[in-house]
Amino acid sequence: MPGFELFGAEEKKEVQDVLDNGVLMRYGFDGMRNGHHKALELEQALAKRMESDYAQVVSSGTAALTVALASAGVGHGDEVIVPTFTFVASFEAVLSVGAIPILCDIDDTLTLKPEAVEAAITKNTKVIMPVHMCGSMADLDALREICDTHDLILLEDACQAIGGTYDNKPLGSIGDLGCFSFDYVKTITCGEGGGLITNSKEYAERAHKYQDHGHDHIGNDRGAESHPFLGYNYRLSELNAAVGIAQLRKLDETLAKQKRTYTVLRDALTTIPEVTFRKVPLKGEESYAFLNIFLPTEDLARKAHKALGSHGVDACFYWYDNNWHYYKKWEHLLNPSTLVRFSDTINKRLKDNNRSFEESDAWMGRTVSCLIKVGWSPEEVQERAERMVSAIQSVL
Ligand SMILES: *Cc1c(COP(=O)(O)O)cnc(C)c1O
Repeated sequence: MPGFELFGAEEKKEVQDVLDNGVLMRYGFDGMRNGHHKALELEQALAKRMESDYAQVVSSGTAALTVALASAGVGHGDEVIVPTFTFVASFEAVLSVGAIPILCDIDDTLTLKPEAVEAAITKNTKVIMPVHMCGSMADLDALREICDTHDLILLEDACQAIGGTYDNKPLGSIGDLGCFSFDYVKTITCGEGGGLITNSKEYAERAHKYQDHGHDHIGNDRGAESHPFLGYNYRLSELNAAVGIAQLRKLDETLAKQKRTYTVLRDALTTIPEVTFRKVPLKGEESYAFLNIFLPTEDLARKAHKALGSHGVDACFYWYDNNWHYYKKWEHLLNPSTLVRFSDTINKRLKDNNRSFEESDAWMGRTVSCLIKVGWSPEEVQERAERMVSAIQSVL
């Protein structure tokens, strides 16, 4: 996920446009801005690239999820089904609108297991949120069907998977809403930023207002605008948007590079019979942001992860022990610790998440993920492949 690797003249030019006229905010100041509307331009480019009718850019991926949920009318006491393997942000966004994240098992796709999702549905369930961790996705046909049967919203957290596809459609565009992050470590970066896409005019119009204090953006005079409902400030600045415009233009080139590197590394590991790969659903194509492998046991996965490090293969992760990405380490969320008091109902449901998820443990315990960088030369990739093979063979 190389946004931070590819910062160059194109980004500087876009940022310079903004600095030249000094309008760092996306709304108002029309007389000064010399026709530059970077946030708007990023939205138009994002909607087009993601084959969606509407895009709304905001200040982070977490904000995108929050605004998406609010725009879909998700709020107090509603339940949102989220996978045990995600980034804490998906969990936080749900709580920030007053709804309750309900953890659910994953399978060998490393994201929501459809049968476990069905079992987690209650009368309060409103949303199913698959999180396309490390560039790949759940069985989205199965999740869509569950949503249609139970009248639920499908919200894709595609923050780590921009550019991947399902059934030849961009990830993020399959659900009722899809969210991206443009933080500093994602495939494309604005420094900080995020975006949501949707084909729903209603959701898009709500999102547009909600992310800017409920302003309706009618007319040029911010003071005269009306506020049809309560909103907050999740706006993206023109400076951040400018970086994102240049980054988004490089997306396809980035994806092609990721795929080349991924393929070399995967082909090399295929020679080791004990190594298997994360399941990608039949209609899916990864974004190739990471290569995710399974070792035969948890013990071997830990050892392989260590050996990769000692063989000089950096940027490999053992998520099972990671504080940010696997629910077991979220002590502040499992035993809810909040600055403001949550209602007893929310606290009780949150505590229900503090239980064992055996299938998730089984898959995550065996998973090692290696980040794919785009700056590696073909020689470096080849050398890396060889080191990965010897590292893993050394522990088998
Ligand atoms: C990065 C990330 C987010 C949040 O994005 P920020 O821009 O860092 O707020 C949400 N979900 C997933 C899966 C992520 O990786």
